[in-house]
Amino acid sequence: MKAVLFHTHGGPEVLQYTDFPDPEPAAGQALVKLHAAALNRMDLWVRNGWPGLKLEYPHIPGADGAGEVAALCPSIAISPPPFAIGHPPFAISPPPFAIGDRVVINSNLGCGACDFCLAGQDNLCRDWRLLGETVRGTYAEYVTVPIRQLFRLPNGFDYQTAAAAGLVFHTAWHSLVTRGKLQPGETVLIVGASGGVNTASLQIAKHIGAKAIVVGAGAQKLALAELLGADILIDRTQEEDWSKAIYRLTEKRGVDVVVDNVGVTFPLSLRCLRKGGRLLTVGNTGGPKFEIDNRFVFGKHLSIIGSTMGTLRDFETVMALVCNGKLKAALDRSFPLADARSAQERLEKGEQLGKITLAI
Ligand SMILES: [Zn+2]
Repeated sequence: MKAVLFHTHGGPEVLQYTDFPDPEPAAGQALVKLHAAALNRMDLWVRNGWPGLKLEYPHIPGADGAGEVAALCPSIAISPPPFAIGHPPFAISPPPFAIGDRVVINSNLGCGACDFCLAGQDNLCRDWRLLGETVRGTYAEYVTVPIRQLFRLPNGFDYQTAAAAGLVFHTAWHSLVTRGKLQPGETVLIVGASGGVNTASLQIAKHIGAKAIVVGAGAQKLALAELLGADILIDRTQEEDWSKAIYRLTEKRGVDVVVDNVGVTFPLSLRCLRKGGRLLTVGNTGGPKFEIDNRFVFGKHLSIIGSTMGTLRDFETVMALVCNGKLKAALDRSFPLADARSAQERLEKGEQLGKITLAI
């Protein structure tokens, strides 16, 4: 098959479009012929590397993918380990798939056998992996994944749109709905107007029936947020301390929920929350270390709720909404697989508005 891979960490120049042996599905796995992949910031971090990251070279990046089932390897019976006794039953037998079925891939890889996986909390798996991170990913013509990672797409549903939706909607749904318990009528502040998870969070907030305030940089990015249903826009290039704007807008009450995946903005986000409010975070695009004033956390009874990715059940729930048109990934540009280097360069420069995808 053709694939984009790298043998060493570095800049976009380490990516090579080349031949690579077709992967073979193991027991319980499907071979998927990919038609689309989508880029995530994680792809850049893995390519650049971090201390302790161990990859099996050559590494193929990419978490998101959609395509058709090319082969299926029957499952083996899994005996639950002794510590699973007493946990609520959780269906680990995947729905039946056939060759040629159109699918989108859930990149959150639980082992399927530990106590967390058996309890339906596969994103807390003891041997958790992410496709394209420590396992070879979707910048390729074929990929193998456990059959339970597949979600069936309706006939005619666009592969690019499906691939672009996977990771970001999965992550945002788990954070806002499963963990954050967002309720209709609540007010959500989203810090950042254009990132994949933020645009997904905005749509989910509106779908749930919440009021959405978006803080973003510049008119172009805020126009996208407005298009996606934001009720109030705050341009942070005009308003340095946007927590003051929130204070005014909410008549000194504060918002119920803040979605903050920047990190260094936590001090402002904590100020913006009402008493008993929740700060949701799935990442730190502004860097991992920063200071917060703990008095806000206990004095205002705040909860800081972190998560990464989501469960099999979250994926099924959110992709059903994507497939019936209730939620839709904002698409930026599509590049041919052979030009993945240009695609990553565009992501690295932050020029995109919505998801960058690869056509395979
Ligand atoms: Zn597990």
